[in-house]
Amino acid sequence: MRAMEELQALLGPQRVLSAEAERRLYASDETPRACTPEAVVFPRTHEEVAAIVQWANRHRVPLVPRAAGSGNVGGALPVPGCVVVGFECMDQVLEFAPQDRYIVVQPGVITEEIDRIARTAGLMYAPDPGSGAYCRIGGNLAMNAAGPRCVKYGATREHVLALRAVAGDGRELRTGARTSKYATGYDLTRLLVGSEGTLALITEATLRLIPAPERVAHLRACYADNAAACAACARVMQQPVVPAALEFMDRRSIEAIRAYGGAAGLPPGTAAVLLVAADGPYDDVPRQVERLAAALGGEGLIELQSGFSAAEIERLWTARRALSHAVKRIAPLKINEDVVVPVSRLAELVAAIDRLAEVHRIPLVAFGHAGNGNLHVNLMVHADDADEMARAHACRRALIETVLRLGGTLSGEHGIGSEKRAFVRLELEPDTLALMRALKQVFDPNGILNPGKKLPD
Ligand SMILES: Cc1cc2nc3c(=O)[nH]c(=O)nc-3n(C[C@H](O)[C@H](O)[C@H](O)COP(=O)(O)OP(=O)(O)OC[C@H]3O[C@@H](n4cnc5c(N)ncnc54)[C@H](O)[C@@H]3O)c2cc1C
Repeated sequence: MRAMEELQALLGPQRVLSAEAERRLYASDETPRACTPEAVVFPRTHEEVAAIVQWANRHRVPLVPRAAGSGNVGGALPVPGCVVVGFECMDQVLEFAPQDRYIVVQPGVITEEIDRIARTAGLMYAPDPGSGAYCRIGGNLAMNAAGPRCVKYGATREHVLALRAVAGDGRELRTGARTSKYATGYDLTRLLVGSEGTLALITEATLRLIPAPERVAHLRACYADNAAACAACARVMQQPVVPAALEFMDRRSIEAIRAYGGAAGLPPGTAAVLLVAADGPYDDVPRQVERLAAALGGEGLIELQSGFSAAEIERLWTARRALSHAVKRIAPLKINEDVVVPVSRLAELVAAIDRLAEVHRIPLVAFGHAGNGNLHVNLMVHADDADEMARAHACRRALIETVLRLGGTLSGEHGIGSEKRAFVRLELEPDTLALMRALKQVFDPNGILNPGKKLPD
């Protein structure tokens, strides 16, 4: 039997897409590249995933896992001759155990749905990527996704108790336990989270839930310049009240929002903004707001507002919500870096970004999770302008070198995928990289899973 017929016999013809028009729908993620896969398959169970991986090993066909395709580093980008394993049909909640504060889900469950279910029992699933309304937990696990709340609660990895998966050689893997403590064997859970589908396909995840805060409040602090906002950010992270979000928009972000017409609520002279959240027991939140406000005050502060109701909070976030539309107006192509530095070095990073923008003549818009020292630095370019693209590539490399000099790292939450592999050697020592390659060989000796991703060639 031919390989594709075998696959159809395995899953039934409805769950194997082979028509070109259908396959093309899975040719790209959020990166501006595309490669049409040979087929797209939709398993429903762990056993079907195992059978697909075994089939792929027999026929030496590369498999590219895909959740919702919202990744922006080409993690789910097909490679020539591959089969895409789409996890959208594995969207079942298998167990919800509020008494033990966990939930067991298949990888295709939408991230916000997990939080919604948790809240029915007074709990929450803390990781909150901006794409949470449509991305799937399998993608979050593979990328160690994060969001604003992660400055207080940690990224996806901190919220995974156990995994079930199929290794690249087809073996079943169970890691961790459904308990709040675990010290048996090596911690393969932490290894698989963030492995970008290169070691194993995750088929089931037991996620940690935590008590939902009784109340939330937000603050918006507007500053005269980037340096004042960065100094305030460092002050906030030095005092004992950990914010439940600490987001930053730089001068170019504010300029873009103004040009787009979304800055009506910002006071004149605003050149940088911090958005901060507090959460916790009902009566404690006002005290937290007071402490955070004290840390946000200081030289360069133009205006500080706080809000407790949903409507007030929405108003404080209006300008931030306009940002992604505003940025798109600058240039059609966004090269999105996701760098991190220790929070005390944020001011140096932001100043360096300003200098790089001038030296390379590339509009750089920086915003993001400043409490983690994690900035999304967007290089806005025109793909058909060869000179501009060359300057952008030089600028990108200089940015990465600056980040590493400041003690930082390439990616805080988006991952490496195919787009950032070229920079990995700048960060990882050769021996460390060799050990990672050896791990890949153990999990996936035939190099079936997501080739061309995560590690450099
Ligand atoms: C508007 C927007 C906002 C965003 N905001 C954030 C943000 O705040 N924080 C953040 O972290 N990211 C953010 N992202 C990026 C993206 O949403 C995340 O990387 C997300 O985790 C990807 O999930 P997905 O379901 O789309 O996965 P995909 O893009 O489909 O896949 C991501 C990776 O996971 C692998 N994978 C998928 N399923 C499995 C599986 N079952 N087993 C093994 N590997 C698997 C894929 O091969 C790929 O490498 C944003 C993206 C957009 C477009």
